[in-house]
Amino acid sequence: MGEKTKSHLQPRKEMLRHVRRAVVKVGSGVLTGKDGLNRRVINNLTRDICALKEKGIEIILVSSGAVSSGMKKTGLSKRPESLSQKQALAAVGQPSLMMAYERAFERCGHRVAQILITRDDLNNRRRYLNARNTVFTLLSWRIVPIFNENDTVSVDEIKFGDNDNLSAMVTSLTESQLLVNLSDIDGLFDKDPRTNRDAKLVRVVERAGSDVLGFASAAPGSLGTGGMGSKIRAGRKVSLAGIPAIIANGRKQGILNGIFRGEETGTLFMPQEDALCHRKHWIAFTKSSKGEIVVDQGAEKALVKGGKSLLPSGIVGVVGGFTIGDSVVILNENRKEVAVGMVNYAAADIRKIMGCRSCDIEARLGFKHDEEVIHRDNLVLTNYNGEDLCRLRI
Ligand code: GLU
Repeated sequence: MGEKTKSHLQPRKEMLRHVRRAVVKVGSGVLTGKDGLNRRVINNLTRDICALKEKGIEIILVSSGAVSSGMKKTGLSKRPESLSQKQALAAVGQPSLMMAYERAFERCGHRVAQILITRDDLNNRRRYLNARNTVFTLLSWRIVPIFNENDTVSVDEIKFGDNDNLSAMVTSLTESQLLVNLSDIDGLFDKDPRTNRDAKLVRVVERAGSDVLGFASAAPGSLGTGGMGSKIRAGRKVSLAGIPAIIANGRKQGILNGIFRGEETGTLFMPQEDALCHRKHWIAFTKSSKGEIVVDQGAEKALVKGGKSLLPSGIVGVVGGFTIGDSVVILNENRKEVAVGMVNYAAADIRKIMGCRSCDIEARLGFKHDEEVIHRDNLVLTNYNGEDLCRLRI
């Protein structure tokens, strides 16, 4: 964790000068107040985004605010607990949210497009790539894509969890070079600033170990879903893709332009140099796991120390009913997660071949796709250079 030092100013400015495409995530706490959608904030942000577009920077928005806008429209004062009520509120609020953006962008001569997705849409590599092509087409038409989770049809199994997580996925999906997460506080503090007057703003997160998550208060604001913890996880996921992320206060006028000018505002998560490649990042964070494979000590060592693929011989257990191409968690004999990976065989077939040599696969199954149950190119170790990726996933 770095302190505020002069040496960070230049790299930050330099880093941001090269950004040509960025994701801007705006939280419900920024966009909505007690009177519903805050048009002033929306207009200010839109003006900033249009100014950036004039400079040739493509912006992709991830906007919350559907549920809280729906609350205002239906007269509810408290966010409901029940999933169906939240889904219904999102259905009520999403059109107003889009209308507010459409009006604001129209004033600056720009058009917007709505993209509502669920995690399931990004689980399958083909659909993932299709979604990406749609965004690239919109960008080539100079239209601002506005993402939100498709709350109305999202149930737990296919949920991103919150829009912080969604924004990290969208950053990697769209090959953006920066994530700006606009919240209603100034950034990450070393203590909860709502209850500690001596809390200090963390300017730079160089490389987070497990400590940085400890700074976060789990409590979200009254309007949104994520808390600071989910913003940190999103920042770290993005930096593990080699992309910088900034958490800043979206209620401050001109904040976006300031960020792009390289002003030292908010908390900057430095991009990690030894980043995961695009595909491994998708396996580690976007794809949700559908089951578990338990391995013996020998296989654990081969995976963790030897950088090897997972072969049937080292498998001692299979949990769940996954199929070919699904993602699974690999556990060691103590049931501790060691990796995640994409399988070449369905769960039922792995049960038949576990413990046997690869040359016996065909005799057991009557067919053989591959020597490996999980190829090392489709496998991501949980301990990634000292960081526990398991803690970053939701
Ligand atoms: N998708 C939700 C909404 O538009 C917000 C989720 C979140 O705040 O993280 O209200």
